[in-house]
Amino acid sequence: MTSHPLHRAEFLTTAAEWNGLPRGSAPEIAFAGRSNAGKSSAINALTGRRRLAYVSRTPGRTQHINFFRLPSGALLADLPGYGHAAVPAAVRRRWDALLSRYLAERRPLIGLILVMDARHALTALDRRMLEWFWPTGRPVHALLTKADKLATAERRNTLAEVESVLARDFIARGARVGVQLFSAADASGVAEAEEAIGAWLEGPHADRGCA
Ligand code: GDP
Repeated sequence: MTSHPLHRAEFLTTAAEWNGLPRGSAPEIAFAGRSNAGKSSAINALTGRRRLAYVSRTPGRTQHINFFRLPSGALLADLPGYGHAAVPAAVRRRWDALLSRYLAERRPLIGLILVMDARHALTALDRRMLEWFWPTGRPVHALLTKADKLATAERRNTLAEVESVLARDFIARGARVGVQLFSAADASGVAEAEEAIGAWLEGPHADRGCA
């Protein structure tokens, strides 16, 4: 197995609407999370590039899906952070329409990384992402970020709690969801996340064709 499956990612393109999504059948992994959850930091930690996920963070671009390409041809999709109070309702509606369709219908998408602050996991908006995606039958891997901010016992309790809620509310209904602790600050959990993502990328994924 490649030890760093996301290293050497390069910015590819940005899309604000369905028709702007990259075409092709390369497998794609999406990163979702509330704004400020630590999604950009997680992407940067996993790609080994300190500022990759900030490259496209120019004003006006934060509502877009940003794509990065790996040397294998596989894509990473950095979804816009959600839950930002300052976003106008009309923008939010457009975003919801693109995101729900993207998660439910994007054919090359082989897995979703759901980034959640370990201290505020599984908010209503996080659950909505799961509800949009899990019926596709494809796997979700949740990262409980900023774990460095928790004491050891808290970390254990948080992980156990989130695992039991996921089991009760999602896995019991057939969803494929894993979860782990993560910290971009001290790099803990990076190897575990790489293993989960590497397994997706190396697993069998049929040619899914365009969007
Ligand atoms: P995004 O909005 O989800 O992309 O979040 P960012 O990656 O920009 O992170 C939001 C804030 O949380 C920034 O101030 C980061 O420095 C901080 N942060 C992100 N990940 C971690 C982490 O693992 N540990 C700590 N202590 N802070 C983090």
